[in-house]
Amino acid sequence: MENCLFCRIVNKKIPAKVVAEDDKILAFEDVNPQAPVHVLLIPKDHYASLNEIPEDKRGILADVLLKAREIARAKGIDQKGYRVVLNTARDSGQAVFHIHFHLLGGRIMSWPPG
Ligand code: 5GP
Ligand code: ZN
Repeated sequence: MENCLFCRIVNKKIPAKVVAEDDKILAFEDVNPQAPVHVLLIPKDHYASLNEIPEDKRGILADVLLKAREIARAKGIDQKGYRVVLNTARDSGQAVFHIHFHLLGGRIMSWPPG
């Protein structure tokens, strides 16, 4: 989608610090990190949020989660701990409407989130 920020990052029209990339998934550093490790993982295909993922595309959700685990391992936080966050729609604070998972780690986090 031309007017989608994260599609523009996928298409390299906007620069990003890419952490991992394959044919289906892009992972890049969040521009405003909330923890020492703050990586965004997105499917390259455009879906506005979890609400828009069709049942027959469920595999992408598992693929993104396993990629988050791989990145957590590569960044050395898998054993200390990390958090994967998926904000969905207004009340969650979702600001970019191309589904994205936040991988956060490298510091102790509180619960519940704000
Ligand atoms: P949300 O609140 O939608 O779950 O999270 C959106 C995230 O995208 C925020 O953490 C924000 O810092 C990040 N973000 C917004 N614009 C850009 C950008 O242009 N580049 C990168 N790398 N991250 C962005
Ligand atoms: Zn998009």
